[in-house]
Amino acid sequence: MGAGVGGCVLAERLGSIGKKVLLIDKRDHIAGNAFDYHDDHGVLIHKYGPHYFRTNFPEVREYLSQFTDWIEQRYVIKSCVGGELYDFPINRRTLNRFFGQDLKTEEDVKAFLDGVRDKSIGIPKNAEEQVLKLVGRKIYDAFFKEYTKKQWGTDAADLDPTVTARIPLRYNEDEAYLNDSFQAMPKEGYTRMFEGMVKGNRNITILLNAGYAQVKDRVKFKKLIYTGPIDEYFGYKHGRLKYRSLRFEHRSFSNQEYHQKYSQINYPGKE
Ligand SMILES: Cc1cc2nc3c(=O)[nH]c(=O)nc-3n(C[C@H](O)[C@H](O)[C@H](O)COP(=O)(O)OP(=O)(O)OC[C@H]3O[C@@H](n4cnc5c(N)ncnc54)[C@H](O)[C@@H]3O)c2cc1C
Repeated sequence: MGAGVGGCVLAERLGSIGKKVLLIDKRDHIAGNAFDYHDDHGVLIHKYGPHYFRTNFPEVREYLSQFTDWIEQRYVIKSCVGGELYDFPINRRTLNRFFGQDLKTEEDVKAFLDGVRDKSIGIPKNAEEQVLKLVGRKIYDAFFKEYTKKQWGTDAADLDPTVTARIPLRYNEDEAYLNDSFQAMPKEGYTRMFEGMVKGNRNITILLNAGYAQVKDRVKFKKLIYTGPIDEYFGYKHGRLKYRSLRFEHRSFSNQEYHQKYSQINYPGKE
């Protein structure tokens, strides 16, 4: 149930050992949230938000390479604060420009942060405290406060510390978004890669536009692998989980090769 990353990989693995798989999805396409398609202008769009593939596991790369070639890259993201583009995640260059400093070494950065961070916080109780403890109020207000609200539809003070803890802090000038050893985009897109996995495999039948509730009593199956929302699976009997609150708008710009210099620019203010 669900033809996203989890569903497609499991279908392929089971199909490869001779199991018959019915892969269903309520959407009209496979690839789940990683779905991409070419728009009328030939631009590859990640419909449900940008997906950066990365892994530290050679066996994951090897497995997926059966279904795709890659465009390797180091992802770079900038944050636009007060009309200026800053390195993000926060690194030494971000701090130097934002605070008008001239920090040169890792020790300089640590000493400077020690002066701005909130030392009264012991174990952070929420995502706001997590950032305040690490980099202090000014950075929190400029780079994290509204951004977190936009992403999660709620204050950082109401979120678990792990939400902001996953964003690294760099003491050097490394501007790479991620540290993983292999960072690459599937050359023809994610959808093509997943098609390579599950389409044309005689052990896998794909049923799209098929909601779990409508299908489950009509089909006989020995085992179910459910990859949809867990709260939905239990009929919301324990309530609804909070999910990220992103809304995507796609716009086309003509007469220019690139609309912006970097593939992702965050606008962490109220705009
Ligand atoms: C905005 C955004 C950005 C992300 N960026 C990255 C990134 O850069 N790198 C990265 O590694 N990961 C990223 N992720 C995470 C990544 O999308 C997920 O880890 C991955 O999609 C999980 O795959 P999945 O198969 O578990 O779920 P999904 O891809 O969500 O697939 C589940 C499928 O189940 C189907 N389904 C659900 N309910 C039903 C139902 N009742 N009946 C039938 N079908 C149903 C859905 O339609 C969906 O196709 C991002 C996620 C989001 C939302």
